[in-house]
Amino acid sequence: MKIMPWYALLVLVVSQTAGSQPPRTTPILFEGARLIVGDGSAPLEGSAFIVENNTFTRIGKKGELRLPAGATRVDLSGKTVMPAIVDVHGHPGYRKDATFSADNYTRANLADILNRYAYYGVAAVLEAGTGRGDLPFEIRAGSQPGARLRTAFRGIAMPNAGPAPPMRDAPFGVTTEAEARRDVQELAARKVDLIKIWVDDRAGTVPKLTPPLYRAVIDEAHKHDLRVVAHVVELADAKELLRAGVDGFAHLVRDKDVDDELIGLLKQRPNVFVLPTLWGERRLIHSEKPAWLNAPMLRDTLTDGDIKQLGDSFEGAATPEAGEKARQYWRMLARTIATLNAAGVRLGLGTDTGGNNGGQYFGWASQIEMETMVSAGLTPAQVLVAATRNSAQILRLDELGTIALGKSADFIVLDANPLDDIANTRRIAKVYLRGREIDRTALKAGWAGRS
Ligand SMILES: [Zn+2]
Repeated sequence: MKIMPWYALLVLVVSQTAGSQPPRTTPILFEGARLIVGDGSAPLEGSAFIVENNTFTRIGKKGELRLPAGATRVDLSGKTVMPAIVDVHGHPGYRKDATFSADNYTRANLADILNRYAYYGVAAVLEAGTGRGDLPFEIRAGSQPGARLRTAFRGIAMPNAGPAPPMRDAPFGVTTEAEARRDVQELAARKVDLIKIWVDDRAGTVPKLTPPLYRAVIDEAHKHDLRVVAHVVELADAKELLRAGVDGFAHLVRDKDVDDELIGLLKQRPNVFVLPTLWGERRLIHSEKPAWLNAPMLRDTLTDGDIKQLGDSFEGAATPEAGEKARQYWRMLARTIATLNAAGVRLGLGTDTGGNNGGQYFGWASQIEMETMVSAGLTPAQVLVAATRNSAQILRLDELGTIALGKSADFIVLDANPLDDIANTRRIAKVYLRGREIDRTALKAGWAGRS
């Protein structure tokens, strides 16, 4: 038998540490926090929970759980704990600071973006149909420290008619049902998390994916146990997509109020999900600059230039006419959300961050989305369920979404209770992903050094 040199052993140890399973950690007992489980149940006051091997292994009341041997204790008295957020609609990779280009789609930029999501408490994000090459799969399978990446890889649209440039060439362009089925088969072989389709003529500028084509996509996807999420604008398209068996919507219907026929179709399909994706509508719904533009936390990840660009984007509502138009549009979207909610439709959280309407506000937008959903009339408790449990279920991320035994320890420690005021989800003291605290101080210092 050949004896291995010492440096071969070192390689062995390093490669084991770098595998997809995070290394074991000593048990930690967290005591005293108000615990929001994420399933809509009443919060547990004065909680205690134990995290061991990166998962929740005990949950109870303070004083009931004994400190395991070798464990450390973390006092969370006065704090609130909620599950980490899941964002089901993003387009990471193209934005880098103020630039927007396919050249930015690199491993380093994707890793930085996943850190930005993590900084604001997001545990996972779906790349919604704009993936390129092997990177999304390599990152999904890897063990980089930020938010988890899930991917629809390349979505499906008519040729050159999906998302606007520079993402336009990412999706498959299809003109026949045979092509559509072949593309779905390729996506199934790569084990995508969802299939994204665009059913939108971009105000008459591009051809819209036709019903025979999306029926073929949906039928082929379901044969492979894959679900299809649609970018949609018009009520008539949403109805036809539901009749074709679509599994979710990446946006609200935005051309008119929803009607009883749509709600009837949704009630027949209780698993269909809807992402309001209000962040993507922010320039159309705000009649004045939002107050959160002044939040110091915005400066943790963004440069002054980024923030000025964001602020300037709200100038369009400066005239009285534009302001009134924005108010009317916002009231229509709020009515739609209220109608969907009253009908028991499953709502999730999406932002479109990284895309044309989403900008470079990774993670921050996921935070603001929750506040906007409350402004639309949902309760903070409903929004927290949508942003955690529902969104994790939509992505079939069984280890995320709630604080429960056996789940991955992905949670946010807050200085104030978001059930009192949803904006308190931004009063972040700590973020834990996979049982480990995110070093937010180091991340912030890195971003500050760049500007
Ligand atoms: Zn999108």
